[in-house]
Amino acid sequence: MSANMVALAYLVASVFFILALKGLSSPESARRGNMFGIVGMIIAVATTMTLTENWMLIIGCIAIGGVIGTLIAKRVQMTAMPELVAFMHSLVGLAAVFIAIAAINNPVSFGLPAVLPAGSKLELFLGTFIGAMTWSGSVIAFLKLSGRMSGTPIVFSGQHMLNLLLAIVMIGFGLWFFFSETTNWTAFIAMTAIAFLLGFLIIIPIGGADMPVVISMLNSYSGWAAAGIGFSLGNPMLIIAGSLVGSSGAILSYIMCKAMNRPFLSVILGGFGSDGGAVVADDGAQKTYRSGSADDAAFLMGNADSVIIIPGYGLAVARAQHAVKELAEMLHEKGVNVRFAIHPVAGRMPGHMNVLLAEAEIPYEQVLEMDEINSDFSNTDVVLVLGANDVVNPAANVQGSPIYGMPILEAHKARTVMVVKRSMGVGYAGLDNDLFYMDKTMMIFGDAKKVVESMVKAL
Ligand code: NDP
Repeated sequence: MSANMVALAYLVASVFFILALKGLSSPESARRGNMFGIVGMIIAVATTMTLTENWMLIIGCIAIGGVIGTLIAKRVQMTAMPELVAFMHSLVGLAAVFIAIAAINNPVSFGLPAVLPAGSKLELFLGTFIGAMTWSGSVIAFLKLSGRMSGTPIVFSGQHMLNLLLAIVMIGFGLWFFFSETTNWTAFIAMTAIAFLLGFLIIIPIGGADMPVVISMLNSYSGWAAAGIGFSLGNPMLIIAGSLVGSSGAILSYIMCKAMNRPFLSVILGGFGSDGGAVVADDGAQKTYRSGSADDAAFLMGNADSVIIIPGYGLAVARAQHAVKELAEMLHEKGVNVRFAIHPVAGRMPGHMNVLLAEAEIPYEQVLEMDEINSDFSNTDVVLVLGANDVVNPAANVQGSPIYGMPILEAHKARTVMVVKRSMGVGYAGLDNDLFYMDKTMMIFGDAKKVVESMVKAL
């Protein structure tokens, strides 16, 4: 394939990637967006294969990776998707480090001069350190999201100073690598090891409730790492695809921070949610709550004019999306105005609830974002909180609370609140929720799917 044809094919693939991102911006066009992404990736990989004589090796690797990926994708539960995404990010970071090691070890086979030029060294340095940080940060995110490691922030005094010091030392080794006339493995290995450590140290102090920002941030890092390596390899496709991932991840992180009312830099520096954990819950007073049955709830909803359903992580755990669609349809038939309220960080990954409700084919016009629906709660008869906790926790309005300042769905303003969950247990941020103890609240204990099915039966 001529260089011009390769450039053209890469351009076409890039256009498909951009169309994919555009498609993914709305649930209605997301399927189409995914198809564009697949087509773009096929063009990109096929074109790259024409650039090498070693294409059997590439096919072999794709076959091995493809089989492993297919098996994992088939087996993974919907609830385990967030940690799978974190795991995938970690692999992108590690791939960037491995490519950099291979390029430094044998520059000629990568089309680079035998003695690496300054520009390539800089690109390899950037790709490696971002890749290494992405790997260790994503591993911690994976452990936290899969519950193998507590979501509680790990903080110690002098943490920020230590991180700063390590960053300076890492850059020092990077400069040594950069200015060395021959390949300086000592500097490169030291720099990479510190980057691995930094990724770990930056993520451990980030509290449970701030994990959404971490996920989107690591997504962004993995893109920048790929783009950095794309420069080293002189591969425009990798640069474009990496930049698209990097910038869309950065925009998503910004949106997440805005949704949680967190200054971006403070989340990145870590330690949010680390102090004042007991402020909200432990005032020493014995708190009481009211509980009821699915039949009681069905009766109340069937006689209401308006119902807002707030889905949360528990809906995903219980896979209650199809049952809840049936419930909404029945209420609708009875003349009840039923709507769904989506908090931007509900569930365990950006857009988690939108995906579940779309899977159950709940009409998009019934699904409203927080900003669109929050002012309606005070005029609403019944709010049904389905497996949600943190996103409706009024502790967000209490100064000193770890989630202070995070905008919530204002369920507590509705006339009657019904909460479906299995126990009085806490949500991901580990906080008690005063909404559950309000006079207007009725707790309905049980698995969300079973409870909703009972409600449907009762209706
Ligand atoms: P929460 O994690 O706050 O609460 C979920 C609740 O669901 C729990 O209290 C649990 O209570 C209940 N639950 C679990 N399983 C079931 C079940 N089978 N049936 C019924 N209820 C169930 O979820 P929210 O969606 O309210 O909030 C999301 C939290 O996750 C936020 O803190 C957010 O910051 C964080 N997060 C979000 C990410 C994102 O990108 N969206 C990523 C990472 C973290 P019980 O055990 O009593 O049933």
